[in-house]
Order: sequence, then structure tokens, then C-alpha cells
Amino acid sequence: MNPFWSAIARELTPYIPGEQPRIAGLVKLNTNESPYGPSPRVAEAIAAESGERLRLYPDPVATELRETLAAYHGVRAEQVFVGNGSDEVLGHAFAALLNHKAPLLFPDVSYSFYPVYARLFSIRAETVPVDDEMRIRVEDYRRPAGAIVIANPNAPTGVALSLAQVAQLVDEHRDIPVVVDEAYVDFGAESALALLPGRPNLLVVRTMSKSRALAGLRVGYAIGDPDLLEALIRVKDSFNSYPLGRPAQAGAIASVRDEAYFQARRADVMRTREGMTEGLRRLGFEVLPSATNFVFARHRALSGSQWAKRLRERAVLVRQFEKPRIADYLRITVGADAEVARLIEVCAEILRG
Ligand code: PMP
Repeated sequence: MNPFWSAIARELTPYIPGEQPRIAGLVKLNTNESPYGPSPRVAEAIAAESGERLRLYPDPVATELRETLAAYHGVRAEQVFVGNGSDEVLGHAFAALLNHKAPLLFPDVSYSFYPVYARLFSIRAETVPVDDEMRIRVEDYRRPAGAIVIANPNAPTGVALSLAQVAQLVDEHRDIPVVVDEAYVDFGAESALALLPGRPNLLVVRTMSKSRALAGLRVGYAIGDPDLLEALIRVKDSFNSYPLGRPAQAGAIASVRDEAYFQARRADVMRTREGMTEGLRRLGFEVLPSATNFVFARHRALSGSQWAKRLRERAVLVRQFEKPRIADYLRITVGADAEVARLIEVCAEILRG
């Protein structure tokens, strides 16, 4: 190991994002990107912001974007914090809210960035097993905890908790912060935003990467009590005052203002997901109920890594995690209809041997 490295750099186990290979004709179903472009108004807004004005720093607190999001979600602008992708927002939340003496709790099967942040910030963390159907059991969080983070719907399972279950979790832990990562909520789950009034320990984290097809723009946000957000702002302003450039702020605002486009595209994804689930089940896959833009599925004919390898040989890219409990599952993004048709065709071909 290079002697110039700090102790922190030596000890990190970084998150590994899905690959972005350049393969001709690739059916890319590995990173939960949208198969559709963002609203055309996004490109116009970005273009308008990409000229001479780029010489000026952006608004460090993204006032107009926060006001736009606040109006959209029916909250006040002081309740909205924005960042460079929800990964950054989550990172700030780990540093600002989730580091306490008692352990941070999160599900054993969940977003693999959580343990990475815990390590980066030296947070004592414990995992709570999901049940055999990969559901988060709220009752199992009744144990000593300094903070809780869950994804709802959960990733990579796609399985969602009801609003009542999330309310129970937040209410049973009123003395500690509870972060609900809603990266995929627009694809069929109930948002915990409805729970915010009277629950100052709840932080809801959102992203524009999935349902708004803006993974390349890097815009995420959190909504919660202004006192909670103050901690995030302190961390942000100790790290990077200008996390969102002018094009990102302008593009995000334009996306939020095009409600018709947003509703149409998310409905397309959910419709395709139902056909995809049916097609996979017909081939003998066991598919978990998904409230996201991906499905989590396994098939006893092959291990998860064999499936992923054979699909890749046929230019279909999916995500597989070589991890306890989920190594036999594939996480497959809901693509465009033609991509899903190709996936099903290729799976059938692999099964025929
Ligand atoms: N949370 C979950 C559960 C995710 O799957 C992802 C996407 N990898 C993120 C947050 C981060 O998304 P982004 O940084 O693009 O907003």
C-alpha cells in the first residue's frame, strides 16, 4: 500500500457502482436508470444556463429549486435540503444525524452504500435481518439504537413497507433520527412525507435519478424538520458550499415543473414492470413483488452469478450481488418494452441450454 495514503483511505471499503460499459447493442438493465429521457424542458433549461453565466458560482443554497420542490411536496422551503445526488445527501445525513453512541440500525439486505458510509464516518452499525420474504419487520427494530436508516421501497429487493408500518417505525423511535431513503418511491410505494407533521425525528431522502430520468445530472434532496436540516447544512458547508451547479439547479427545476411528463413516464415504467414480472414468472423465475423500477428475481436452474454471466455473454447486463442471502438473485432494471422483450427472449434461450 502506498505510504502516502492516510489511515482512513487504507481502511475504506468503497461502494462499487454498477458498470457503465460501452458495448454495442447492449441491453443495460444494471443500474436502475430510466429507459426514457428526462422531460425535454430539462435540456432547454440547462442550455439556457450553460452560457456566459457559467462564470458565476451557483446559488449555494439552491433557493429556487428548494422553493419549487417545497411547493411540489406541500412543505416549506426551510424543510428542503438539496445535494449532488441522494448519495451525497445520505452521506451528509450519516455524518450529521446517524452517528451516535448506540448503534445505527439498518436492514441486512439493503442499499450497500449504508455500511460504506458507516465505515467512512466510524459509525457503530448493526444490521437487522429482513424476513424470509425479504420484508423489513418493523418490530425487529425494538432494540437499543442511536439512529435508523431504511430504504422504502427497499433496494435491491424492491419490496415496500406500507405507510402505517413506516409510521410505526418512526413513532416507536421518537427519541432518535429515522432516515427513510425513498429513491424508488415514485414507482408504487407510499411516501413518508405524509408523516412529517409532528415527527421532528423523520428525514425523507429523495432522488431525481430514477423517476425523473436525471441520473446524469446528480440531484437529490431531503425533506424534514428545519432543525434536522440545520445539521445537514453544517456538514455540507464544511465540505462543499456549491454541490449543485447552475445547469443542475435549472434542469431539476424544469423537471419538477413538467408534471404531465413525469406522470406519463413513471406510469410507463410500472406498466412495463408488470409485463416483465409476468414474463419472468412464466419462465419459472421467482420474482419478489416490486414497488420500484427494477425486479429482484431468482431461478433455481442457475446460480445468480451464472445467470449474470450468461446474460452478459448475450449483451444483457443485470446486477448481481455476491452477498449472503441474495447471491442467487438478479436485480433487473425495468427497461423499455423492447429491452424487456429481449431480456425474456435471452432468458428463455439460456434455459433451453
Ligand atoms: N438510495 C438507493 C436505495 C439507491 O439505490 C440509489 C441509487 N444507487 C441511491 C440512493 C442514490 O441515487 P443518486 O445518488 O443517484 O440520487
